[in-house]
Amino acid sequence: MSEDIFCKIINKELPASIVAEGEYWLAIKDIHPQAPVHVLILYKKHLPGLEGAANVDAEILGNLLLAANEVASRVGLGKGFRLIINSGEDSERGVDHLHIHLLGGKRLGAKIVN
Ligand SMILES: [Zn+2]
Repeated sequence: MSEDIFCKIINKELPASIVAEGEYWLAIKDIHPQAPVHVLILYKKHLPGLEGAANVDAEILGNLLLAANEVASRVGLGKGFRLIINSGEDSERGVDHLHIHLLGGKRLGAKIVN
């Protein structure tokens, strides 16, 4: 098991503002929100990113998307939201642990959200 910050949050070794939790995922508030609502859906299994996923992860990846949809509904994003997955070096993601950014709570516009 890797010891990145998300693994520690999943293992309850670090505090986080938990929004919801499922069997394979944990949803927490982003500590540097880029929108009025900014939630991270963390895959409970350590994978550096989508680039490290394989066929065996297909069902879980599907479940993560469904989880994002469910969390969006729970936090009141009925008018719409944006999901972002950063993959690989060029994405300059902050933590090498697969997660989905869920953003919403305003009109997001067409620009790329980091
Ligand atoms: Zn991890």
